[in-house]
Amino acid sequence: MDHEDLRLAVYRSFAQTGRAPEPAELAGHLGTDEQAVARGLADLAGARYLALDQRGRIVMAHPFSAVPLGFSVMGRQTLWWGGCAWDSFALPHLLREEGEVLVATTCPACGRAHAWNVGAEQPPAGEQVAHFLVPAARMWDDVVHTCGHQRLFCSPACVTTWLEATGYPRGYVLDLGTLWRLAAHWYDGRLERGYSRREPAAAAEYLRGVGLSGPFWGL
Ligand SMILES: [Zn+2]
Ligand SMILES: [Zn+2]
Repeated sequence: MDHEDLRLAVYRSFAQTGRAPEPAELAGHLGTDEQAVARGLADLAGARYLALDQRGRIVMAHPFSAVPLGFSVMGRQTLWWGGCAWDSFALPHLLREEGEVLVATTCPACGRAHAWNVGAEQPPAGEQVAHFLVPAARMWDDVVHTCGHQRLFCSPACVTTWLEATGYPRGYVLDLGTLWRLAAHWYDGRLERGYSRREPAAAAEYLRGVGLSGPFWGL
């Protein structure tokens, strides 16, 4: 079984249905058995192309998520868990035929509901801010925890309230425009054959290009 066939089957299932494919579905689709699928998924997870839980089930294939992490993303016919703020804002860039999608969440500090129509043309308007807790160099230590703590807040004041309540150290605050630019092309190519992750130098160049800087980003 070709690893790229497996990776594409996982991504296309998420894109089309909003959920992770079952191992049996993957085995049937790829003409192999579930043991080979499990080994292939473990290899892909080791190379950071997706994330598995302790039982080997697919949890995330960024920017798609099989579990709720604070966001929903509604398309015309499909509902996705949005992963984190970054991932939710990335989905309309990857799913171009959707046009705008409705990204919804609640502020972790005060519980206020927020929603934006997010498309690929321009960032949504709004005064809300994103807060990323885990620095870039540590993001894959526990990527589900990392994504679960990349949230959108009403305002910088709500970020401060939440940090005081949780005891977490301050991470990095982004306005909606910066978040949208970060999300816009980060995941380019993931639904296409032959995708490979950016090398560190290219990743740093991308991050600088969207206006990020400082030790949080390793820049
Ligand atoms: Zn709030
Ligand atoms: Zn994420």
